[in-house]
Amino acid sequence: MTATTARPYVPAELDATDWSRLEPLYRGLVDRPLKCKNCLENLILDRSELDAATAEAEANLYIAMTCHTDDASRQAAFTRFVENVEPNVRKVAFELDRKIVSSPFARELDQARYGVLLRRLAVDVELFRDANIPLQTEITKLDQEYSTICGAMSVEFDGAKRTLAQMSRYLEETDRATREKAWRAIAERRDADADRIDDIYDALIAKRHRIAVNAGFANFRDYQHRKMQRFDYRPEDCFGFHDAVAEICVPALHRLNAERARHLGLPALRPWDLAVDERGRPPLRPFRDGKDLLDRTAAVFRRLDPELASMFDTLGEGECLDLESRPGKAPGGYQYQRQRSRRPFIFMNAAGLHRDLITMVHEAGHAFHSILCKGDPILEYRGSPTEFAEVASTSMELLTLPHLGEFYGEAEANRARRERLEKFPSLMPWIAQVDAFQHWVYTNPGHTRKDRTAEWMRLNARFGSMVDWSGIERFAERSWQRQLHLFGMPFYYIEYGIAETGAMQVWLQSRTDRARALANYKRGLALGGSRPLPELWQAAGCRWDFGRGIIRELMDEVNREMATIPA
Ligand SMILES: [Zn+2]
Repeated sequence: MTATTARPYVPAELDATDWSRLEPLYRGLVDRPLKCKNCLENLILDRSELDAATAEAEANLYIAMTCHTDDASRQAAFTRFVENVEPNVRKVAFELDRKIVSSPFARELDQARYGVLLRRLAVDVELFRDANIPLQTEITKLDQEYSTICGAMSVEFDGAKRTLAQMSRYLEETDRATREKAWRAIAERRDADADRIDDIYDALIAKRHRIAVNAGFANFRDYQHRKMQRFDYRPEDCFGFHDAVAEICVPALHRLNAERARHLGLPALRPWDLAVDERGRPPLRPFRDGKDLLDRTAAVFRRLDPELASMFDTLGEGECLDLESRPGKAPGGYQYQRQRSRRPFIFMNAAGLHRDLITMVHEAGHAFHSILCKGDPILEYRGSPTEFAEVASTSMELLTLPHLGEFYGEAEANRARRERLEKFPSLMPWIAQVDAFQHWVYTNPGHTRKDRTAEWMRLNARFGSMVDWSGIERFAERSWQRQLHLFGMPFYYIEYGIAETGAMQVWLQSRTDRARALANYKRGLALGGSRPLPELWQAAGCRWDFGRGIIRELMDEVNREMATIPA
């Protein structure tokens, strides 16, 4: 039996962007006497409700800012929250975590229900240091600065001012000179801010190292693995993943590169030869604008599964989407669950590319996850560890492949299918490279920029495509700067590789029994974060493994499937 609150603890009209309004509510929880197990359960539930209100206030400010990085007032509102509310919430959260885990009634709680939460809070208590709060605020602001710099990047090209997201489409042009010109325009533009971004990264590394040392760790890598609650794998497992990818995926990637060069009739690929269709067909152009993208994606989900389709349709019903790219918008794409109203928001930079369509179904997968577990009264369980959250999203990239007819004719759909399957050997090496880079960066905190470049290039030789960089090496040297996770979400990247192995397993199930695969998928998602990772994988019908064995198996499956799709 789960205790329920008779009345809401948080007033409906609460302005959760204002600490003076939040403080009495948080104080009320900290000071509440705990005389029984039920009191503790009620405290957990009331706290969830209050945390959800705070989280939604931050979500709204973040969404508003990323949709308009060129609007100073929105930036300022987010900064105010980061500076005035967040540090106070962090402090009081620590008091509450400690109150809960050290309560004598914690042991009496149903461990099947509360065990995962208690384990999580215990780590938060263990890692909390007062001295780290201002450092975390500075880090958030540095990441915000990175976002602003990237959001302001645009180039004059083909007669108009274009964002870098909008420029990507020129890299798919069959005319090689156009591609090269576009690629150089993007690279030069990024290079103009490369020193500023290096400054930001240096500052981030130093502050993060400080945080780790303050918490009693030798380095930020070990701190962050604990902080990210990686209970089910360790740095050695990450190295095992890197080795498996280098051994199994990189040779496959190099074979694809060689084939591409042969089809294009080139002695060697240059960086601007990677996105064009290797058979000289015009780029895939799946949709005209955001509305078109939305309508066709809805049709894809109708073909896949009526339940998922109706969830997707609710997103179109107001204030849940900002899809199109435009100047003054932050880069990237995300799904953000607003935890109080329990409505997801999808942000992306659609510019009419095939990869935008992938982003759309990917973020929709995250939204399905948010929706399927939104009924849990415990906030922490209304989202899962990122390793599994990315299974929810990545699976949709694969399960929608049979239904791409909503966007394409059969030949084009097959192109898109091949492209997605090729992502296994081509994306896994990039993930391993970014992850290995971070392991090195944070376990060598005193490094110089020269050392960092050398390490990145060493990893590039281990994991990179067979590309001729001669004469433009300096662009390769800082190509990590475009990976936004390195700035705001350190070590959050291998999750995509781990999740790819889960999503591919969901896809394998769906090829033999689609109904069962979808049922497993939804069962796994509905658990939210209430169970440990291996159990979430098991619920989704997957094996919790990202080592050599599974990668070999999946690579073989990809090769088999590719052989059946006409080129
Ligand atoms: Zn994702």
